Amino acid sequence: MYLPQEIIRKKRDGEILTADEINFFIQGVTKESVSEGQIAAFAMAIFFNEMTMPERIALTCAMRDSGMVLDWTHMEFDGPVVDKHSTGGVGDVTSLMLGPMVAACGGYVPMISGRGLGHTGGTLDKLESIPGYNIVPTNDVFGLVTKDAGVAIIGQTGDLAPADKRVYATRDITATVDNISLITASILSKKLAAGLGSLVMDVKVGSGAFMPTYTASEELARSIVAVANGAGTKTTAILTDMNQVLASSAGNAVEVREAVRFLTGEYRNPRLLEVTMACCKEMLVLSGLAVDSEHAEQQLIQVLDNGKAAECFNKMVAGLGGPSDFVENYQSYLPQAEVIKPVFSDKAGTVIAMDTRAIGMAVVAMGGGRRVASDQIDYAVGFDQFIQLGQVVDNNSPIAVIHARNEQQWQQAAELLKAALEVGEASQYKATPNVYTQIRAQDIE
Ligand code: URA
Repeated sequence: MYLPQEIIRKKRDGEILTADEINFFIQGVTKESVSEGQIAAFAMAIFFNEMTMPERIALTCAMRDSGMVLDWTHMEFDGPVVDKHSTGGVGDVTSLMLGPMVAACGGYVPMISGRGLGHTGGTLDKLESIPGYNIVPTNDVFGLVTKDAGVAIIGQTGDLAPADKRVYATRDITATVDNISLITASILSKKLAAGLGSLVMDVKVGSGAFMPTYTASEELARSIVAVANGAGTKTTAILTDMNQVLASSAGNAVEVREAVRFLTGEYRNPRLLEVTMACCKEMLVLSGLAVDSEHAEQQLIQVLDNGKAAECFNKMVAGLGGPSDFVENYQSYLPQAEVIKPVFSDKAGTVIAMDTRAIGMAVVAMGGGRRVASDQIDYAVGFDQFIQLGQVVDNNSPIAVIHARNEQQWQQAAELLKAALEVGEASQYKATPNVYTQIRAQDIE
């Protein structure tokens, strides 16, 4: 028998907690015998003293086991269960293509996604721009769609990792969100509760990333790989660039439109293709569907070219309540804004930097994201044909096309976009890679 305050004291004094102590504390969080004040003190003690990897593994497993842990064995899938999670970005529509692409190669992707958070867009908000798409199906429907389409992207059910829900809500109001131990346990407890065989973590780097520096993103990636593998789920992290909008669009319906066009081959933004392929390839290799990265690439190109990936996406949409001809007729189903026109830079030159966070916030300001949890999303607004770093803006080449509800909203968004771009000389532009590095289990000593 332990006392929560003694566990907090031990961590406050920089000591190492045992797995039993961590389990006891997290069970108390779930049962509500531990108060919000005690959670806050516990989180702050971790904030100042961090946790060792064994402590992080214990915290992750305790939060994972605080609710239902999905088990897919009864579904008798004939392939591995595999997923990807991203730390979030702007124009990061990767999941919408990646899930169907991996499914078309024989994987099963039961993806539990989130809503937009701060400046970052949410996969669920994007999918909800499809009429009829149900992000909260029953567990039975979730399983059946995963089996039939190979992929089902849905929202978090209340019974997955409930302890994290309580801990996160307290962290949010006590300045303890930005801590690597707590972020690792929070993300992984939810992901590992989905009963995955393997996981790829896309950890973003740059001006639109959740972590402030490359070093911090790498530290988070290493922590996630060590903890997830330590908890028994084969996991690789990939560090990818978020110094600019990833896709050509940012918003909800505009990103879904881009995802469909990507899957059908109508248009593939090269940055988005590279990042999506990097994550997909690692998912195939980790889960044993491909012997190596080259083999994975061949399979992925094939399912893009022969339409199988687009077919899996369509099956998922139809299975979850959306139109059965969505891929074919997406234009007639997705909501459209009233004012759609390009914005030009006041200064001609090369785009040398983007405040990607500010661009994400511009989408939020238009109503494409939430300021408070109860806000209704406007799915139609956002940007497309977004300029990329290193490209030229002038009277003929716009920054982006803004999709707005009215002239006034268009003007506000135009000012925000212009302010978010740094325009200079071509020689001032320093290209960054789209994919920086991979961190696999064997890279962690
Ligand atoms: N996302 C999460 O789910 N948890 C964190 O702690 C941070 C980001």
